[in-house]
Amino acid sequence: MSVRVVARIRPLLKHELDRDTIVTAESPDGENAATSTVVRIPNPRNDAESFSFQFNSVYEQDASQQQIFDSEVSSTVKHLFNGFDTTIFAYGVTGTGKTWSMRGGKSLADRGIIPRMLSAIYRRCRKIEKDTAGATQVEVALSYYEIYCDRVYDLFEPPEKRTPSGLPIRDNNGKTVVVGLTEKPCTTLKEFEQLYDQANINRSTSATKLNAHSSRSHAVLCVKLTQTTETTVRISKASAIDLAGSEDNRRTDNNKERLIESASINKSLFVLAQCVEAISKKQNRIPYRESKMTRILSLGQNNGLTLMILNLAPVRSYHLDTLSSLNFANRTK
Ligand code: ADP
Ligand code: MG
Repeated sequence: MSVRVVARIRPLLKHELDRDTIVTAESPDGENAATSTVVRIPNPRNDAESFSFQFNSVYEQDASQQQIFDSEVSSTVKHLFNGFDTTIFAYGVTGTGKTWSMRGGKSLADRGIIPRMLSAIYRRCRKIEKDTAGATQVEVALSYYEIYCDRVYDLFEPPEKRTPSGLPIRDNNGKTVVVGLTEKPCTTLKEFEQLYDQANINRSTSATKLNAHSSRSHAVLCVKLTQTTETTVRISKASAIDLAGSEDNRRTDNNKERLIESASINKSLFVLAQCVEAISKKQNRIPYRESKMTRILSLGQNNGLTLMILNLAPVRSYHLDTLSSLNFANRTK
């Protein structure tokens, strides 16, 4: 089991009014080396002082989607085919690039981690089938759900078919299952893209219906890989999670629903941090049963690899939120 925590600083956006860049990447010795591992940010109370935070890697504004995939994710695909689970989180305040990192933009170059991961998985499936002359069969099945206010909703179902209380979860032979969650076999990248696009439309429509914003829910994509030979069946799972925005809404928007939302987001992110910390410190007890998301993910079981991408905006208007994101990530080490 291992954990990597990496930071990704997004570029300034074209229409961003605040152009005061305060978050910078550094190499540990202060030199301008190619690989940075330190994020530096001023003390909000005294600009002359600064804080620094160390990570496994820090990606600057010009880091491409390809670069992030090649250096952080492609090895996890290999791991998946070796029969181990892998879990990737995007953590950060709304507007810092979580969805960009996970899903990305429309063009090939802008595709994020998820479409690139599926593309790599299908390529490997074809290769295995060819190399073994069909003796090894690989099947891919997808499920995609969101967790909003601690309720689980299937994103492969149209929003009007949802029960407001969400899908129940149960323990089944020591495994936690979401009862009634769709698991779609999916054999090609093209098919995946259609399913994924439709599900993302479902996600935003349902949020609008609830008078909420999709940034207030966790979106969890699970890719189940089943490799079958004459004598063995090997199942492993890759999960990619676009987390709910970590901002503290209690400061700005404090009607009742928003408070309930914030409380449930805070709790699930808190448990997530505790789990990641326990995994990275190789503790025996991982408190994954203490929130719905970590419980469904069985986080830290089955020799998992965990990757946490900490998304950061470079500008001053995010100063306090950026600092709390950095402190959050620091706790997971
Ligand atoms: P979040 O999901 O965390 O709320 P988004 O992924 O929606 O944030 O990003 C906010 C905006 O910033 C979007 O317009 C997105 O296209 C843009 N953006 C984020 N990261 C990058 C990046 N690395 N390069 C280019 N644009 C980015
Ligand atoms: Mg988003």
